[in-house]
Amino acid sequence: MSREDPTQGPAAIEEETLRAYLADRLPPELMARVEKALRESASLRARLEDVRNDRDDFHLHSLGAIWRRSRLTCPTRQQLGSYLLDALDPDLGAYFQFHLEVVECPFCQANLADLEAQSVTPSAAIASVTRQQRILRSSEHLLGDDNP
Ligand SMILES: [Zn+2]
Repeated sequence: MSREDPTQGPAAIEEETLRAYLADRLPPELMARVEKALRESASLRARLEDVRNDRDDFHLHSLGAIWRRSRLTCPTRQQLGSYLLDALDPDLGAYFQFHLEVVECPFCQANLADLEAQSVTPSAAIASVTRQQRILRSSEHLLGDDNP
């Protein structure tokens, strides 16, 4: 049993920093560090929720803050489309998931909902192609008996 738990790194991030993060008052490098730590630590995400719930004034400022932050960290619409199709690099996909589900960026959530509404078919189409390939492959298997 080691005294230092490697997952406790984010503990170095203080409540004041989380508050500044929510208020969009952090310099970009620190913002990136906090976001990375949040992605890696469920306990830090829980702390962020606590801080968020504690902030009476947060809702007054959050929308503007998120819109400003959006220009820095929001995925493009095209990237969101790839995210929907699960066609992104896993790291980038994880980041978008974080951005949508933890940051809860209203701009991207709206964008994604819009894309989902427009593209109900693509993932169904992909699934059907995959099914066809599977059927083809299994018939090849049957034909394989003819080989010497
Ligand atoms: Zn966004």
